[in-house]
Amino acid sequence: METNNLGFLVVEDDDFQRQTLIGMLSSLGAARILEATNGRQALDMLCSQHSKAVDIVLCDLNMPGMDGMEFLRHLSKVRSDVSIIVNSALDGAIINSVGKMAKEYGLRLLGSVEKPISMARLEGMVRQHLTSPLTVKRTAVASPKFTIEEILQGLKEKQFEPYFQPKIDFSTKRLSGAESLARWIHPDHGVITPYSFIQLLEEAGQIDGLTFLMLEKAAVACRKLLDKGHVLSVSVNLSLVSLGDTELAPKILQAVLNGGTEPHQIILEITESAAMTNTAAALENLARLRMHGFGLSIDDYGTGFSSMQQITRIPFNELKIDQSFVKDFTDNHTSRVVVESSIAMAHKLRMKCTAEGVETEQAWNTLKEMGCDSMQGYLIAKPMNLNSLFEFCNGYST
Ligand code: C2E
Ligand code: CA
Ligand code: CA
Repeated sequence: METNNLGFLVVEDDDFQRQTLIGMLSSLGAARILEATNGRQALDMLCSQHSKAVDIVLCDLNMPGMDGMEFLRHLSKVRSDVSIIVNSALDGAIINSVGKMAKEYGLRLLGSVEKPISMARLEGMVRQHLTSPLTVKRTAVASPKFTIEEILQGLKEKQFEPYFQPKIDFSTKRLSGAESLARWIHPDHGVITPYSFIQLLEEAGQIDGLTFLMLEKAAVACRKLLDKGHVLSVSVNLSLVSLGDTELAPKILQAVLNGGTEPHQIILEITESAAMTNTAAALENLARLRMHGFGLSIDDYGTGFSSMQQITRIPFNELKIDQSFVKDFTDNHTSRVVVESSIAMAHKLRMKCTAEGVETEQAWNTLKEMGCDSMQGYLIAKPMNLNSLFEFCNGYST
């Protein structure tokens, strides 16, 4: 391991524990190790000429003066390019939530572990730093920024396309549907993901332009798939803000019929994370959409604040467990409980349950055992354009 090229900073108030960590790092081959006994001192070091020399910060949580949480918050502002290892004697659940907090602050977290940290674990985390330099978390930050005018111009020129992610049935392993995910095929910047435009469109009250473009294209895709003998449902994301317009349901129906598809082929996914502002209008729309035969799915389940409320009021037929729980439920107890109880609740309310973000065989097997109905995730396929979906359908066998 190329550890000798890396710079470490150990932030730990207990002398014995700090020396132990330094010893462990040395035996991994680390040559540059700085030490600090509290958060303030560590920040000073990171803001000084030492700064560039540090690649990985190991940090305790319970420290006098400035605790680890505050330290990480400040750190994210001055040096978000370093990697973090949180190591504490506090309860595992607390350490875990601090780990999540660090990620939310945009820091690259290699791991959050209870004391004492083992040599193998430490080595694994350092290796992770070496093999995955500045990865996933950066994508949202690194993606190009656009103004609302640029986005609207792109919409006007119909530069937006749905990509499709296959959805697989656990029991039969068959392809049962595909979710349409918006992509901006930008003439200069290439394929742009939704994080660069959805929120801006919603805030500007302009999301409907995208919604209807996606709906029509998804309906056309669904028709083409049927014509080729692939009977798939197509899911389309519907923004909660659109539901305030009482004329929405007939417009959606029309867009789908224009594309040559029947409503029962289309599932509308609604994310519960935003508050429903015009509840009466939203309920009217959703009841009417169900009446026309559309499937209704509650998206990102578990991340919002009004989950139960919405479910009991709206005739949903599918619940999608948010990928943040699926990602770590095989080794995180709390996530496992959320996943298990979501599946049970969905079934009691006669809904199908879909897990998103399935990336490993282990997650597949566990979800199948738990009785989850279907899945999406990189384990099977990433979102792809329509031509690739045709190829996928032809090549996919159970
Ligand atoms: P979502 O509806 O929760 O979609 C799932 C997201 O997870 C997609 O991101 C997909 O590419 C990603 N994903 C799927 N499987 C995996 C996996 O195994 N691992 C990982 N790490 N990620 C996976 P994407 O395409 O970037 O979309 C982001 C969000 O943007 C969507 O989240 C959805 O809320 C929103 N969105 C996308 N298209 C539309 C649209 O046409 N209208 C509206 N209103 N929102 C949209
Ligand atoms: Ca979705
Ligand atoms: Ca989702």
